[in-house]
Parts: sequence; C-alpha cells; structure tokens
Amino acid sequence: MGTVAENIETIRARIRAAAERAGRDPESVRLVAVSKHQPLTAIREAMAAGQVVFGENYLQEAEDKVAALGQGLVWHCIGHLQSNKARIAAEVFDCIETIDRLKLAKALETRLAELGKTMPVLVQVNVGGEAQKAGVSPKEAKQLCHELQQFPHLRLQGLMTMPPFVENPEESRACFRQLRLLGENLVAQGLLGQHGSMELSMGMSGDFEVAIEEGATLVRVGTALFGER
Ligand SMILES: *Cc1c(COP(=O)(O)O)cnc(C)c1O
Repeated sequence: MGTVAENIETIRARIRAAAERAGRDPESVRLVAVSKHQPLTAIREAMAAGQVVFGENYLQEAEDKVAALGQGLVWHCIGHLQSNKARIAAEVFDCIETIDRLKLAKALETRLAELGKTMPVLVQVNVGGEAQKAGVSPKEAKQLCHELQQFPHLRLQGLMTMPPFVENPEESRACFRQLRLLGENLVAQGLLGQHGSMELSMGMSGDFEVAIEEGATLVRVGTALFGER
C-alpha cells in the first residue's frame, strides 16, 4: 500500500482504464472515498490530493467529521439509516445513497422542507436478495421510485447496490448489470433520470473496475484508498 495520495492516483488511473475499456467517458465515473473508521488526518491527505466526495456509513461519525473539516466537501451517506435519524442525516449529508423505504423518505422530506434544502438521493437495491442486506428488491424498486416523486425536496438520481461478497469480482458482474438494466427500465418508465443522467453507485475496492465496465457512475472505494480500517 502506498500513501493516500499515491493510492488515489492509482485508483484514478484504474478508473480511467476501466472506463476506456468499456468505451465510456472516464469523466462519467466519480470516485467516492469511503472514509468510515478513518481518522481526519487520512481524510485531509485525500483532500490534499484533490478528493472532494467522501462516503460515510455512521451518522455520528459523519457529523463529527463534517464539523471538523468544514465546507467544501461532499458527503454521501452509504450506510443504513434509521428513520428516527433522518432529521440529523438531512442536515449532515449532501447525498443519501441508501433510501430503502417510504418512511425514511418521508422523514427526510419533512426535515429538508424545514431547512429549505434539496437532497440528491439514490434507492438502494438488494440485487443479490441477501436477507442480511438492506435495500429493496428489484421488484419493489419501481414502487419506491414512484412514491419518491411526491417529495419535492428529494432529487431521485439513481440506484445503489452492494452485491453479495465474492472472491472473484467477475462473479459480481451479473449483479452490476442487473442494476443497470433495472435503472434503464425505470428511466424508460419516466421514474428515473428526470434530474439529468442516471447515477449507478456500484463497485468497491475489490470490484470497481467490473462495475465501471457495467455502467457505474459512482464507485465507493475505501480499503484500496485508505488501507485497512
Ligand atoms: C465500507 C463500504 C464500502 C467500501 O468498501 P471497501 O471494500 O473498503 O472499498 C463501499 N460501500 C459501502 C456501502 C460500504 O459500507
């Protein structure tokens, strides 16, 4: 493992190469630096290397980091959110990738309306159908995307998924492809993509290149960037 700055350079090069292999514009893929359990010093190193978008799983931790690091960064919520934490999440985050039920969306909308703030959101889809993972089933995604249209302070921008853990990233390809096809289907039905291009958040340290080949626009990379947590 190199320094954070070296790791970011390497990851950026791998993102570019994967996009080019797939005939995609490398600019259409953004890196979300997953900083959960990483100290402020590590995040500052990433900032110094030009990284702006960070992903956090835990609300309290995110709150502390946002307070310590100030303006200018973009914070994505990539962890499970309880509805009773929606008020704080609405204040702390700039994007919530883990919308998985109406109740959570409602709670966010209420607080966002009070704040006069609009929040980009993604619907989390449990493509692999694992019992222990959050997210709606691909079938339920349509209904939830439809329901989200009623909330003027939520900007539904796309889908997020976390496939079952596998050793070989090639085994995740089918899941990534399924998320993209689901997204394209929802765009065709007018339920996604009204706010510009559709976002697909998929791919982590072990499989982000495969995800990019299958259409990822956001890759969430932690370990390959910061080292072990
Ligand atoms: C922790 C986490 C990541 C990053 O995983 P790495 O394997 O460390 O890159 C990505 N997405 C989610 C939802 C996570 O919880």
